[in-house]
Amino acid sequence: MHVAEVIILGKKELWFQMRTTDGMNWMELTFVSLSNGSGQVAKRLEKFKTTIFTQMSSLAIKHGAINLGQGFPNFDGPDFVKEAAIQAIRDGNNQYARGYGIPTFNSAIAERFKKDSGLVVDPETEVTVTSGCTEAIAATILGLINPGDEVILFAPFYDSYEATLSMAGANVKSVTLCPPDFSVPVDELKSVFSKKTRAIMINTPHNPTGKMFTREELELIATLCIENDALAFTDEVYDKLAFEVDHISIASLPGMYDRTVTMNSLGKTFSLTGWKIGWAIAPAHLTWGVRQAHAFLTFATSTPMQWAASVALRAPDTYYEELKKDYLAKKLILVDGLKSVGFFVYPSSGTYFVVVDHTPFGFENDIEFCEYLIQEVGVVAIPTSVFYLNPEEGKNLVRFTFSKDEATLRAAVERMKLKLKRR
Ligand code: GLN
Repeated sequence: MHVAEVIILGKKELWFQMRTTDGMNWMELTFVSLSNGSGQVAKRLEKFKTTIFTQMSSLAIKHGAINLGQGFPNFDGPDFVKEAAIQAIRDGNNQYARGYGIPTFNSAIAERFKKDSGLVVDPETEVTVTSGCTEAIAATILGLINPGDEVILFAPFYDSYEATLSMAGANVKSVTLCPPDFSVPVDELKSVFSKKTRAIMINTPHNPTGKMFTREELELIATLCIENDALAFTDEVYDKLAFEVDHISIASLPGMYDRTVTMNSLGKTFSLTGWKIGWAIAPAHLTWGVRQAHAFLTFATSTPMQWAASVALRAPDTYYEELKKDYLAKKLILVDGLKSVGFFVYPSSGTYFVVVDHTPFGFENDIEFCEYLIQEVGVVAIPTSVFYLNPEEGKNLVRFTFSKDEATLRAAVERMKLKLKRR
């Protein structure tokens, strides 16, 4: 990736925009060194740094490194969806959407959910359109969690869960999924659950590990939720990237729909991560809380993009089959490549991520390893220690994404083969 143009937007170069020559759009980035730790922030966000994804993508550009860090495709979304967005704009669908979504999109979401999970939901009272899944997570947590409520997370966890729970004043408990298979530690989970548990957050297929929760694991979680009268919040944005086993929505398990918020988005499935179109599906009594928060977070989500998203979700099954086939080919290139470089690669059954053990190369921890990889090898990976309450637990693991074209994946592997040496 070569920087073609840089515009300084703010004083002291705090903000700048870059256009790169690989055809990607403008990227707005902060200088990492200046954005961490300086400036004012409310207590509830004090402990959080610039997100690891922003940090790593900035460093990728600074060092001309190949970015296998932040999970976004370096190829474009499908023409039929882009054309639908252009058409929607030309047709004048450009004013505020209804707060909880334009009717045709709410219906498309309900239709897709029925196809995928077998559940029949009311598009008018049980579906809320949000600005990406991240906003669905925020609206769910802020709309349904009170200060002091206990919420269980599985570590490693996607960074926004902990930050948003902190904004809600929740009391976060975490249960760690450990290599090699990242399976749910049954006794530990049972001991963390109690009558004080208000909710558990699930992510399947799981970022960063690629783990998919098995039916047995989901049944255990369901039993514990029912016994303790707790809610389940489930982030299923990688559901269409399930390679080895079928994706299961916990909402479809007996007794669970009534206590579950299922969240998803367009970004990963349609390679349109910048559109920020997401949704939350929940029974009407939980949707009320989600919508109350959503109404005051963003009020409504981009109208023309919702029109286009309606076309996307009604894509024929062949679209989803092709997507999976393409990603499977990418996955094989990366996994085989990482093995040939000398990593221990953990099996990943879903998502576009794979986690490896970097310790064969002799580095102290994941952060040191990733710094070396960027500066000396020219490849970006994500250190996973930021996804744990106790960073020590992630110090041997780093995450690579295969959401890149095959030439980029091969080039990254070549660089590592050539330059990554045991310390
Ligand atoms: N979901 C993306 C990932 O895990 C990152 C999104 C973001 O940058 N916040 O890589």
